[in-house]
Amino acid sequence: MNSSCSVNIIDGKAAAARVLNDVRDAVSALKDYGLHPALAVVLVGHDPASQVYVRNKVLRAKETSIRSVEHKLAAETTESDLLGLIADLNADPTINGILVQLPLPTHINENRVLQAIAPLKDVDGFHSENVGGLSQGREVLTPCTPNGCMHLLQDTLGDLSGKHAVVVGRSNIVGKPMAALLLKANCTVTVVHSRSVNAGELCRQADIVVVAVGRPRMLDASWLKPGCVVIDVGINRIEEDGRTRLVGDVDFDSALRVVSAITPVPGGVGPMTIALLMKNTVTATRLQHPALTIHSTPAEATCLSIS
Ligand code: NAD
Repeated sequence: MNSSCSVNIIDGKAAAARVLNDVRDAVSALKDYGLHPALAVVLVGHDPASQVYVRNKVLRAKETSIRSVEHKLAAETTESDLLGLIADLNADPTINGILVQLPLPTHINENRVLQAIAPLKDVDGFHSENVGGLSQGREVLTPCTPNGCMHLLQDTLGDLSGKHAVVVGRSNIVGKPMAALLLKANCTVTVVHSRSVNAGELCRQADIVVVAVGRPRMLDASWLKPGCVVIDVGINRIEEDGRTRLVGDVDFDSALRVVSAITPVPGGVGPMTIALLMKNTVTATRLQHPALTIHSTPAEATCLSIS
């Protein structure tokens, strides 16, 4: 058992600030080569949560000197008009990253739209070319949230080789790419999902537990091995004691009794997602200019060389 004062509460805001600093340096270095990374953000309709996400992405872009171009389209935009815009953005050499804010209105086929984005501009990492590349261990654009979780884990533990990681959840945007990234980092990976038998027993064997389910406080201390590191991706809005609050998929107070490190909600994984979107925009710019090499680890982010 841990006394909570010895637990590392992983500070996602501070980690995101470090990533954003590296991005700012890399953008400035790219400008010396006549390149100015640019992100196109496409929003269809007026979903209030999506509007907030887009506003925050545009703000972070501004803070890191990434040029952002917003395309706000009416809710009744047709799929073919949206595909037309994506084709234009794919062909525009001044645009390096394309982000289509999800969810899209139901009359638009989300998968067709995501597959239409040029893989080298797919800063969300959802195109099947990037999904396949990740599972083959190639250097491709990878989804921002699991990428952010990897940064937090490597900041906390250093080398992850040989660690047993359990990922709870198998969604295309978090669980599956998370498992692929952990495997790439030489972890032994188990994926637990809604049909798993003995989920608690499997989690109790893990050095690292990453949870992305969407169920408030589903995991408590009884699911966790003493000393493990927990990354809680879940964001759940609940009513408690007469007020609305955000909680994760892990019962934070209970987990504190056993873990060595844990992300809080809010303030853990959340801030990393947008930071990694900015980093992906820089990576996309680099991948589009293969003669130019920007070393991609944070410490090397500002080193540029022409090969
Ligand atoms: P999803 O609904 O697409 O997937 C949930 C997964 O949980 C499924 O794969 C399912 O198999 C699994 N699951 C459901 N019940 C389970 C159970 N009883 N035991 C084990 N597994 C179970 O959700 P998602 O898009 O992966 O998101 C998960 C959570 O992460 C949500 O709360 C979401 O809001 C949050 N999220 C946060 C960020 C961020 O930036 N912090 C980004 C994306 C998602």
